[in-house]
Amino acid sequence: NEVVGDVDELYAMLQKGNTKSLLKKHLTQERFDLLKDKKTSIGGTLAQCINSGCKNMHSGVGLYACDPEAYEVFKELFDPLIMDYHKITKVEHPTPDFGDMDKLGFDDLDPAGEFIVSTRVRVGRSHAGFPFPPGADEQKRRDMEDKTIKALEHLDGDLKGEYFSLEKMTKEDEKQLIEDHFLFKDDDKCLRSACGYNDWPIGRGIYFSKDKKFLTWINEEDHLRFISMQKGGDLATVWKRLVTAVKTLEKNLNFAKSNRHGYLTFCPTNLGTTCRASVHIKVPKLAKAARETEGSGSRLDEVCEKFNLQPRGIHGEHTESVGGVYDISNKRRMGLTEFDAITEMKNGIVEIMKIEKELEIMSLEELWKKLKNGESNSLLKKHLTEPIYNKLKDKVTYLKGTLADCIRSGCNNLDSGCGIYACDAEAYDVFSDVLFPVIKDYHKVDEVKHPNPDFGDIKNLGFGDLDPSKKYIISTRVRVGRSLAGYPFPPTATLKDRMEMEARDKDAFETLKGELKGTYYPLYGMNRATQLQLTEDHFLFNDSDRFLREASGFDDWPVGRGIFHNPQKTFLVWVNEEDHLRFISMQMGGDLAAVYTRLVTAVQAMEKSGLKFAHHHKLGYLTFCPTNLGTTLRASVHIRIPKLSTNPEFKAFCDRFNLQARGIHGEHTESVGGVYDISNKRRLGLTEIEAVQEMRKGVEAVIAEERKL
Ligand code: ADP
Ligand code: ADP
Ligand code: MG
Repeated sequence: NEVVGDVDELYAMLQKGNTKSLLKKHLTQERFDLLKDKKTSIGGTLAQCINSGCKNMHSGVGLYACDPEAYEVFKELFDPLIMDYHKITKVEHPTPDFGDMDKLGFDDLDPAGEFIVSTRVRVGRSHAGFPFPPGADEQKRRDMEDKTIKALEHLDGDLKGEYFSLEKMTKEDEKQLIEDHFLFKDDDKCLRSACGYNDWPIGRGIYFSKDKKFLTWINEEDHLRFISMQKGGDLATVWKRLVTAVKTLEKNLNFAKSNRHGYLTFCPTNLGTTCRASVHIKVPKLAKAARETEGSGSRLDEVCEKFNLQPRGIHGEHTESVGGVYDISNKRRMGLTEFDAITEMKNGIVEIMKIEKELEIMSLEELWKKLKNGESNSLLKKHLTEPIYNKLKDKVTYLKGTLADCIRSGCNNLDSGCGIYACDAEAYDVFSDVLFPVIKDYHKVDEVKHPNPDFGDIKNLGFGDLDPSKKYIISTRVRVGRSLAGYPFPPTATLKDRMEMEARDKDAFETLKGELKGTYYPLYGMNRATQLQLTEDHFLFNDSDRFLREASGFDDWPVGRGIFHNPQKTFLVWVNEEDHLRFISMQMGGDLAAVYTRLVTAVQAMEKSGLKFAHHHKLGYLTFCPTNLGTTLRASVHIRIPKLSTNPEFKAFCDRFNLQARGIHGEHTESVGGVYDISNKRRLGLTEIEAVQEMRKGVEAVIAEERKL
């Protein structure tokens, strides 16, 4: 059982902790001093309310009520937090109103069954006079269970069902019920530290009707959760069923309620209507399309914000979406009636389906028209001429990739530089009429050819640290990309492909030894904060590149993606970002020799690990983007060059040395404070060691020039 900490110690932890929680924001020293010694009439304390939030820095909210009275006894803390979360200016709530069942204004939201997989509405209720989890004990939990079972016996007709105690249920039954989205589980860390799982599984259980369309959860997070759900999009039927059940049960149970807060729940985010109406809805296109307004993220997030909806993964709060299916529900629960909440949800979902329809994958012909009639400086526009388009338009690769898969991103992003990706390895041959001219143009070669791999003699490189003064180079990184032979690239890869590749990669990582030994961290299930930090520190990729997004690079995100690295984070592997694999060697400072040597050792070890990499006699190692072909090698420094970079000759200087300058947060980002990412530009038609030497000479010239200016 969770032991609640000492109130002063908890507060010290919170003050020290790095968290964006609402608890930290609103529990000021002044409020803490005012409340720390107060108690509710059944002995509830501030420590019980904040225990979880002080111990879990990843909490979004961080505050629970120890019992129904806490909302008044500790109101100096609860009120501002509630107003903040529910976006209201006063803690007040209207009288319950479920609407007129004969004039709801909606019925089935998706009669054709195109988008909505299932619909669910739940409300939470608490027994008046009983404590919430921190103050409850075995006896109280059993009392609540008994009381509820008796009340449930009054349900009849389709609502009639049976109660199953978690104490008596077999593990297999429990697992199946969870899998099918009927039953709760005890895996929420925040709820655990809020005492939510104390005495587990005593007093917990589930009631459901024969058809499993009406359910009651007993003593999960709330004393009671009433749930109505079914397959498909018939929101009206789901809603009417819930309302009938709640109205019947009200006659036999006394629910905790307050004039200011509406129905009282354990977590302040559920107060008021306590109503969460959700659909599991398949909207892969919306999830993939980039925001129309500034900033990263998807159109789906944007639309959800606009309609007060909340997207979740399909296995409940704090999980990720799988296969383009999301759990989308109303976000607001307080300060509006039940009927308003369900109507708000209905309006948002209707809009979401409309947009998803509009985004129906554009046919190749439409993409072509967009490109032909649009203004674009891309290599795609330049080289996909009418005759070549006509020659290629009906071709298909063995893995079923089409020209549309290759050019979708470039046609929908006319500001692309390149504009064309390969849908799979074979595309380089099937669509060579457009890809080869693009490749020649980008890599500035007259003929498409590439030497055999040659990493040079790593014992005799002839260079070492490029900046012993440590004044210019901040860090050095070398990466190469590899594709797994036989697997499609992002536009045609399926969820299954991604998972299979990840499993193979994981086996291969196990074979690494010495300095290269490390751990694989899948993105699926990785805490969002950890993810952001790794990206910020330049170790991890993210899903914000709109060119890659449009090329299906983030489909099924984050399943099948991950990062492997050694403890020092000097050797890293990206799994299923843009390429199937990216091997990266990096460290602080300018020691290119050390970084390159580590990379070469790693590539050789991975070649022995059993993975087979796609390779082409004319193109070298095959990558998703034609700009990376050949050596696939990008050797870069983050370098401080405030003078050279503001000189009008900067671009010409880089061109002269075949260098490319990027912002320090990756491709398509801006530079910050005179620091640039400078790397070799050429990857095709020269060997690995030649590419690195070219970068080495260029960076030396950059430093010499910066010194001069
Ligand atoms: P709540 O806030 O209602 O407790 P959770 O996000 O914790 O919601 O999810 C509880 C369970 O309900 C999960 O198993 C989830 O998959 C399931 N669920 C939620 N919405 C739906 C829906 N529309 N259809 C099917 N199952 C759903
Ligand atoms: P790539 O083409 O290798 O994928 P990106 O431009 O997308 O490169 O950058 C990937 C990540 O690598 C970014 O977070 C970027 O900041 C980081 N990065 C690139 N070069 C360096 C370097 N020399 N030192 C530290 N981080 C780097
Ligand atoms: Mg929940």
